[in-house]
Amino acid sequence: MRRLKSMLRATRSAAAIIFVALLTLTACGTAKLLFQGGEKQVRRKPRAPEPGPYVLIFAFDGAGYDQLMAAIRSGKAPAMAAMLGKDAGRGLYEHGYSVPDAVSILPSTTIAAWSAIFTGAPPGWNGVPGNEWFVREEMKFVAPVPVSVTEMDDNRAMVTDGLVGKALKTPTLFQLARVKSAVSLNAVYRGADYFTLVDPVSMVKLFTEFVADKAAIGPGNSNIYQELDEESVPKLLDSVEDHGVPKIQVVYFPGIDLYAHLATDPLPMEVQYLESVTDPLVAKILEAYGKYGILDQTYVVVIADHGHTPVLNDSRHALGADPNDGPAAVVKAVGFRPRKFVLNPDVSDQDYQAAFAYQGAIAYLYLADRSTCPKPGMTCDWKRPPRYAEDVLPAARAFYRANQTGKPTPLMKNTLDLIFARKPVPAGTSSQEYEIFDGHKLVPIWQYVSEHPRPDLIQLDRRMRWLSAGPYGNRSGDILLLTLSGLNRPIEKRYYFSAPYHSWHGSASPQDSHVPLIVARQGYSGAKLEKIVDAVAGQQPSQLALVPLVLNLLASEPPAKSAGSP
Ligand SMILES: [Zn+2]
Repeated sequence: MRRLKSMLRATRSAAAIIFVALLTLTACGTAKLLFQGGEKQVRRKPRAPEPGPYVLIFAFDGAGYDQLMAAIRSGKAPAMAAMLGKDAGRGLYEHGYSVPDAVSILPSTTIAAWSAIFTGAPPGWNGVPGNEWFVREEMKFVAPVPVSVTEMDDNRAMVTDGLVGKALKTPTLFQLARVKSAVSLNAVYRGADYFTLVDPVSMVKLFTEFVADKAAIGPGNSNIYQELDEESVPKLLDSVEDHGVPKIQVVYFPGIDLYAHLATDPLPMEVQYLESVTDPLVAKILEAYGKYGILDQTYVVVIADHGHTPVLNDSRHALGADPNDGPAAVVKAVGFRPRKFVLNPDVSDQDYQAAFAYQGAIAYLYLADRSTCPKPGMTCDWKRPPRYAEDVLPAARAFYRANQTGKPTPLMKNTLDLIFARKPVPAGTSSQEYEIFDGHKLVPIWQYVSEHPRPDLIQLDRRMRWLSAGPYGNRSGDILLLTLSGLNRPIEKRYYFSAPYHSWHGSASPQDSHVPLIVARQGYSGAKLEKIVDAVAGQQPSQLALVPLVLNLLASEPPAKSAGSP
């Protein structure tokens, strides 16, 4: 870690000898990797800015609503506070509007949420349902941010080869907006003109540290994740200098989330991070927009993918990837051959009948039609759906029983909140939405929550439909397990599917699901901005509103005559 840190330091201090990778993307999404080595490129004068309005999107990974608003209110995040102006209550500010009740999709997990944010389509339609998932028709496990596996191949492909963009089945904001757009660091950049990142080798090394080492970070300790956020800003500003200010600029800070997962006191430490690391970076970018003279033509949008819930960092609460215990032991006990927790199993390990993908508080279980592969060594026909009575129900019952009795594995006792399942449909047809397995039968979610009210699982019915119904709804499995989680439970009663960390997310709880969605603009009143946002986001605002919101913002006024235009 120390070595990596000094390497990153070197990146900052010796700009002449390190290389800066700048992926320049054409409109059709093919990427050409340009390595700018040696001398710093000679600065061209910034182009005359295109006429506004501009949209500057701050994408904060893992910054839940309460933590971000606490930082803004604390007086220790002056750039963000000044951007909004005086607080007039109910989300209204002098020149900003902070939606008071925006929710994430489910799972409230990084890659799924950013995919939904930047396509405006839910996972069942955009095809990216998590940090990792299984494409049953291709027998292919995909893990851009590995949780149950440790191989970093897909993470590398996410950073350097647009893996997430390639997986998306619906157009991105950048394709829909058809304006010059740039993305810093975020995995969803298909269709953007420019993608800037820090040295991709160090970036993947950081993720590797995160997945492999998981070294806890105490209060006051400096950390490598902070440097990732900090390193990204000069890169994106260099790109703006070289190519002019894009109409859409996404500024993504992944460090906030990585830090919170490892922080020994996650929520207060995250607030402190937002104040001491994030806010000065926001200030730098706003200063640059000020310098270009376009701040008064810029809508500043702030959004996050999910919040964070502190958990116990031990193997009793981390329902991990041990093939002999936890979820794999449960399916094994009812006769399934579980898939190994690896990205690409050996040829001799292709006879699995059940596969897991982990999303923190949620796990997906994919089941084969076992009649196609009854004997060890036989590869199942994964193009076929599982059988409801012979494959899905036995697995659902097994988890229900394991949760109640601790059999066959005590690890699973009293760890699950809800078990979801559904009747499988043939490949190529839209999947049915998930229902709740009550120990005997499937009950529609709306009916279940009307009989057993769960205000602690917000908009469960609607958000589970987004995940599970649609042409790619089967990518969230045949059975979905939701752990007990949420700030309303003592920390020793919260569980998660992953290796041990200090904090996780993924659930339907308010703490994981309530996200900031803020729009600010100099010279505009909060009330005016509220009207603009409400017209798009409606009565139940969510992350899915970002794309239509940005499209509306871009079209919100006739192009102003800029001073530099002929
Ligand atoms: Zn995240």
